[in-house]
Amino acid sequence: MHHQPVLKNRRTLLERAEKFISDIYFTDCNLRGRLYGNTCPLESLSSFLSLKRIPFLEAVKKDFVPYKVGDTFGPTWWTCWFEVSLRIPDAWKGKEVHLLWESDGEAMVWKDGQPFQGLTKEGEKTSYILTECLKDEEPHSVTLYVEMACNGLFGAGNGSMIAAPDPDRKYSVQKAELVVFNRNVRDLLTDFEMLVDIVKLLGEGDQRGYQALFIANEMVNLCEPTNPSTFPKTHNLAQKFFTQRNGQSQHTVHAMGHCHIDSAWLWPYEETIRKCARSWVTVIRLMEKNPEFVFTCSQAQQFQWVKSWYPGLFSQIQHYVQRGQFIPVGGTWVEMDGNLPSGESMVRQFLEGQRFFQQEFGNYCKEFWLPDTFGYSAQLPQIMQGSGITRFLTQKLSWNLVNDFPHNTFFWEGLDGSQVLTHFPPGNSYEMKGKVEDLVNTVKNNKDKGRANHSAALFGFGDGGGGPTQLMLDRLQRVQDTDGLPKVQMSSPDRLFSQLQADSALLCTWTGELFLELHNGTYTTQAQIKLGNRQCETLLHDIEVASSLSLCMDKTFQYPFKQLQELWRLLLLNQFHDVIPGSCIEMVVEDAMRYYQDIRNKGATLLREACSVLVSKEKMRDCTAVFNSLPWERNEVIQLLEGATDPGLALVRVPSVGVATAKESLQPETPVTVAKQDDGTILMENGILRTVVNKDGTLASLYMLKANREAISDGCLGNQFVLFDDVPLYWDAWDVMDYHLQTRKPVMEVVRPIQVGSSGGLRGSVSFTLRISDKSTVTQEIIVDAMCPYIKFNTQVEWRESHKFLKVEFPVRVRSPNASYEIQFGHLQRPTHRNTSWDWARFEVWGHKWADLSEHGFGVALLNDCKYGYSVHLNVLTLSLLRAPKAPDANADMGTHQFTYAIMPHTGSFQDASVIQHAYNLNFPLRLSLASSDLAPVSAFSVDSTAVILETIKQAEDRKDALLIRMYESHGSSVTTCLSTSLPVKEAWYCDLLERPDPDHPAPITASGMTLTFLPFQIVSLLLYL
Ligand SMILES: [Zn+2]
Repeated sequence: MHHQPVLKNRRTLLERAEKFISDIYFTDCNLRGRLYGNTCPLESLSSFLSLKRIPFLEAVKKDFVPYKVGDTFGPTWWTCWFEVSLRIPDAWKGKEVHLLWESDGEAMVWKDGQPFQGLTKEGEKTSYILTECLKDEEPHSVTLYVEMACNGLFGAGNGSMIAAPDPDRKYSVQKAELVVFNRNVRDLLTDFEMLVDIVKLLGEGDQRGYQALFIANEMVNLCEPTNPSTFPKTHNLAQKFFTQRNGQSQHTVHAMGHCHIDSAWLWPYEETIRKCARSWVTVIRLMEKNPEFVFTCSQAQQFQWVKSWYPGLFSQIQHYVQRGQFIPVGGTWVEMDGNLPSGESMVRQFLEGQRFFQQEFGNYCKEFWLPDTFGYSAQLPQIMQGSGITRFLTQKLSWNLVNDFPHNTFFWEGLDGSQVLTHFPPGNSYEMKGKVEDLVNTVKNNKDKGRANHSAALFGFGDGGGGPTQLMLDRLQRVQDTDGLPKVQMSSPDRLFSQLQADSALLCTWTGELFLELHNGTYTTQAQIKLGNRQCETLLHDIEVASSLSLCMDKTFQYPFKQLQELWRLLLLNQFHDVIPGSCIEMVVEDAMRYYQDIRNKGATLLREACSVLVSKEKMRDCTAVFNSLPWERNEVIQLLEGATDPGLALVRVPSVGVATAKESLQPETPVTVAKQDDGTILMENGILRTVVNKDGTLASLYMLKANREAISDGCLGNQFVLFDDVPLYWDAWDVMDYHLQTRKPVMEVVRPIQVGSSGGLRGSVSFTLRISDKSTVTQEIIVDAMCPYIKFNTQVEWRESHKFLKVEFPVRVRSPNASYEIQFGHLQRPTHRNTSWDWARFEVWGHKWADLSEHGFGVALLNDCKYGYSVHLNVLTLSLLRAPKAPDANADMGTHQFTYAIMPHTGSFQDASVIQHAYNLNFPLRLSLASSDLAPVSAFSVDSTAVILETIKQAEDRKDALLIRMYESHGSSVTTCLSTSLPVKEAWYCDLLERPDPDHPAPITASGMTLTFLPFQIVSLLLYL
């Protein structure tokens, strides 16, 4: 030890150590300047530019032309392939030699025809290790290929990360050379970096920080950068500090490698396939060198991509999965949005995901993994439990703009009471770097100090891929048990959650949804994606019901299992947490729309084929047959098909889950009347409702005739379009801010005043056009049908705005502190007042097919066929219609939109008034086809309680001679009901959401059907053996 005095000057000591490892200052004499030794140019470098993403074998046959480092190429989204020929100088014997590659795209090294390692400057991967210690006998001449995508880790945003991509960006390779790498310098740098960070992060109040300071200072004294023989003793000093151990009570950080890869976001789906390969092959290389390294990896779809496109890599992954290092997590097909997918979609996320993980890796996932979505449905705990999952990891709620979520480790209780053990990594990141800061934050931010002594730390570049680096592993390895820092162990989700479970007595419980107080514009942005999702969910539902019935009626019918799986997987993919929320670039929107079109086209054929089995084998097809996929009888006005004897409107009655013909229209109890009044307003009435429509399409009155109740608030207008300024703080497509509410402007300018369309009888309708601005208009048809308890608004908007938000309001004569919103397999309440910050932070919320505001005995429901954004403040029900953000898609939502909503006043509760059923009816059109008029009505299923909804009927996954049906209790009540079926069911068994039958739980079938009991919001699945 030197014994010169060390003055009491913390600042100079600290900065001295920092400058000793600076990559900017004093690199001529400091340690950092010694990281690399001699360099040597490549023998040759040539390139080939491709518009498309092509396979390796195709690429290497192309004509490569000489490339000079620094030359630019592009544009964005192209691929540049390089052929790299190099010769390592013999004189470098015994040295570690790297190919140093710095480029501003994302690159992949191919060696011997296989993907070998990712190279991405943004992901701190610029070295390809040619040899760790050059030996005479190893080949010195090597030829490699480098495939470089012309996009960065975060796409190619023009000016800022989330700006629309610059399509003309040029790319280049800035460095491509051989270099001697001094591993001992790297190791010492890591020692220094960790010590300096400890000094800074523990601060002046901590004596351990001072101990680190003096150690680092002494190391600078000892270390002579030009004399490697001084390195070992310098390193030993650091080791002495790092190995001073903690006491037994110290917090344990469970470090897990991770690489969050958005399945599409600022880049298209196709690029994600390569992102997975680049990131994961690099992980495999790290595993070869670090047998303790554990990597967690989610999203079955991404594994499926790698399996199809990189089978060699996939089998290496399978190998490391078996070794317990590469750990598939999450259980879902993609990391989906947590709000918008329907209940059945969420089930399918788990069904497709878990079955994939089981088939490919031999195990179901035990934890749901969704770090990065914009809120979490209150129904998720039950869906997880039903899918074999009892644990949940996320951290996105740390982004809350208003309220700090109070827990990091807790039990999350869902709508039905199901609980899952939940952990939010307290470091509030899923892409840590293994730095001291990450460890300190993990302990400091933990809101369950004293209750939970274990936390997760996920490390590795993420969002755009990238993943962990050797340096991150080296950092964590140094401080596994260093007094003053939490203990760190390389761990797995199973180990973490087992520890948390074992010591969970003090944990708190959070009941209900995990609402994210941010990104609330994502319920509305990219309306065509929302429409595609809703319509395709509906279509796949109907195909499954019709095909199941056909299977029972005609043994020769081939249930389209494979085709349906493909279409479901496309739908599930588009539910990814940057696609369905609309927070993606235009290219992704185009991809998504193509997938929806695929589902619509192929789905239409499948539905037609299934329905044709149901309706007839007769040749004579002169009558419109109507298929009802919903589990209740429906009386609705439909437009009969061309080709039927009497096309036109008809009121039809169709049995539950069944078929009927519409030979002639039923006569409604009360026909619809439409009357133009002296003041220019139009009065429409159907025996249930009477409404008065103003010239500008607003409702002056909406009256329930039998109950003698006016629904519209005194002096107010229903169906009022309103426009808001919608300029968020940063996240354009994502965020609508509270202050937008201060900019409300009613849309009042009439272009075409109301005129009568249908004059009554079975249907009354009026239409009108309003100007929203000089660029945008709305045209609407208001429809009153016979026997229908709601008024329908078929809406078309020409939308060319910038940073505006269009909504429609219904101020109603109802007073209640809470409104109800439909969610997956149920509904929940949210406040209509703004008492506390937790209340007002929910100024814009999500719901599915309906929202309802009720007081005792009366209420009003607002239904929709493709919208998700709602707000109910005091007595005003508002539906969010269209936004106009400009980033990351500069053209988001521009153009023509069509959608329908409906207003339904009711007496009693919304449950008793069948609001839920009517919202289904609005979303699931009766499907029409031509049939013989001899067709007798058929009903396959009926349920005798209106509380229980038979949601799903499909072929079982594992048995061709069985159907899977899924029901849920929708009122929030405990009920016993009878399910009857006309299908030849031999046996029925309860099963979970993965369709695993419970051998102890048959559902006895009696002459009247199956008696089933439900708890509030319970989901019940049955296997019916035919
Ligand atoms: Zn993400």
